[in-house]
Amino acid sequence: MKIRKGDSVQLLSGNKRGTVAKVSKVLPAKNKIFVDGVGLYKKAVKGSGMVDRQKAIDTSIVKLVCPKCSKPTRVGYVINDKGIKERSCKKCKNII
Ligand SMILES: [Zn+2]
Repeated sequence: MKIRKGDSVQLLSGNKRGTVAKVSKVLPAKNKIFVDGVGLYKKAVKGSGMVDRQKAIDTSIVKLVCPKCSKPTRVGYVINDKGIKERSCKKCKNII
């Protein structure tokens, strides 16, 4: 999965389309993420009334925002000189 906790992402669909927000949690097994302020809803829970809940969103509807050029970008991978795979911005080639 290319998105990590703490990344900034831009939403590509839904009613918050275009919004840029931070990833608060990732669910790699499901390819889903939680994004700050996105997917919030209220649920009636017995005993405690209305409770704020949050829905995970699919990673296919977000684009990573590069911290260097601050543009929504695709993520590529590069192998550094230590043989470790790192993410890179397809636009400015910065390691993310
Ligand atoms: Zn970039």
